[in-house]
Amino acid sequence: MSAPRRVAVVGGGIAGLACALRLAEEGVQATVLETRRKLGGRATSFTDPRTGEVLDNCQHILMGCCTNLLDFYARLGVEGAIEWHDEVFWANPPHAPDVMRPSLLPAPAHFTGSFAAMRMLSLAEKRAVARAMWRMLRMGPTGRARWEDRTFADFLRECAQPQGTVERFWSPVVVSACNLDVHEASAASAMQVFQEGFLANAAAPRMGISTVPLVELYDPAEEAIRSAGGEVRLGISAVAIAFDGRRVTGVVTDEGAFDADAVVSAVPADRLAKLCSSTLVAADGRLRHLDRVGTSPIVGVHLRFPSRVLDLPHLVLPGRGTQWLFDKGTSADGTQHVHAVISGAAAWMDLDEPAIAARVLDDIRWALPAARGVEPVSVRSVKERRATFAVVPGFERIRPQAGAVGTERDGGVRNLFLAGDWTRTGWPATMEGAVRSGYLAAGAVLGRRLLVPDLPPGRVAALLGVAR
Ligand SMILES: Cc1cc2nc3c(=O)[nH]c(=O)nc-3n(C[C@H](O)[C@H](O)[C@H](O)COP(=O)(O)OP(=O)(O)OC[C@H]3O[C@@H](n4cnc5c(N)ncnc54)[C@H](O)[C@@H]3O)c2cc1C
Repeated sequence: MSAPRRVAVVGGGIAGLACALRLAEEGVQATVLETRRKLGGRATSFTDPRTGEVLDNCQHILMGCCTNLLDFYARLGVEGAIEWHDEVFWANPPHAPDVMRPSLLPAPAHFTGSFAAMRMLSLAEKRAVARAMWRMLRMGPTGRARWEDRTFADFLRECAQPQGTVERFWSPVVVSACNLDVHEASAASAMQVFQEGFLANAAAPRMGISTVPLVELYDPAEEAIRSAGGEVRLGISAVAIAFDGRRVTGVVTDEGAFDADAVVSAVPADRLAKLCSSTLVAADGRLRHLDRVGTSPIVGVHLRFPSRVLDLPHLVLPGRGTQWLFDKGTSADGTQHVHAVISGAAAWMDLDEPAIAARVLDDIRWALPAARGVEPVSVRSVKERRATFAVVPGFERIRPQAGAVGTERDGGVRNLFLAGDWTRTGWPATMEGAVRSGYLAAGAVLGRRLLVPDLPPGRVAALLGVAR
């Protein structure tokens, strides 16, 4: 199949933007159709009507192993906006926070020294964690695939993890990375976080935090796509994917038909379901399980304190409802902006803002002595009901491959390409997963491989089996 000349990319989130940019760079006329009047999708900022400030819907962090996202940032010229942190701070009142920081030892031993020094876990608890880590290291990706149908809590039970390590160590990491509790998240997805994000390479766990609002990271995509010869159309909604019974012929929009040689869907699964006729679904096996893709919510809370209460760039709150705090800066009058994140937040969805504020403040005061007795001057909570897809056991089986060209064998439609963080990229719902899906889809359109290689595992980690 020769590469299509004119491609409609539905959705101007990270997946659609990454796909359109790579297509445009390769000389394809790629047009992004985005329903909203701004780009970035779920990784977004908004102007708070109460204060006029630009706020992110929620803190978005990346890691050193996000090779495709970093490539995308480099193409947009925004990689300098990312500040890197090697250390992770864990609240442990009444003591000072524990710190996990990599040493010069090679992976997977890089965290050993600082982990051994952490006071929030007893020696027996640390030994238990080390046993489970060792097992994940040795099983590699092949072994973790066998855990696809079970929860991470099942694995922790098999590894005889004390309740304290589950609550204070495993849960905060898993719920932040998978946006589901250990009792709900697929063991395979959670294990991937530890294998690839912690154990394989000492550079992988570095945490990247944007120094600018998310909108400033993704807005430059519009100009980059245009200068490469593509197009971005805002405020236009796809209503249906046009299908002639054999091929897709473009997109029906609220502004009329948009003809194209190929269509890339870069919208979430529930949105894609609305764009597909029953004839298209019957013709394409990849579209049959869209209604089974579940979602999980996140709550982000912006608080302003009259004085500095958090003296670290970020802090994990182990065993609490609020999992992370981030220092978002102190203004000239001394007011500190603290951002709190609650992942896997299903139980918070029915709370109103004062109730959310009360819970978060309780957690903040537990962790930060400087916040005790101090009232915030403002609180702004943002609920994202469908923040990410839910990586429950069995999810990988209904997850269609990102970018794959439909084949006669699976009954797929050959010029319809799928992208979006929920498509199968090997990653959980992340900005990296979204870029990967976009690059995979662009590669499938062009018949080329565009994915950026993963960070290679360190030699010792590889010898021990982390990549086997
Ligand atoms: C609160 C929150 C916190 C998060 N934290 C992190 C984090 O710390 N680190 C991380 O890596 N990831 C994080 N994520 C996940 C990350 O934001 C997503 O994985 C990623 O942005 C998904 O990108 P996407 O392009 O696949 O989908 P989306 O961002 O959903 O993009 C889809 C786009 O399609 C548009 N669209 C939908 N329907 C139509 C239509 N009919 N016609 C035209 N356009 C349409 C939408 O408006 C949207 O812009 C977080 C997400 C949320 C919500």
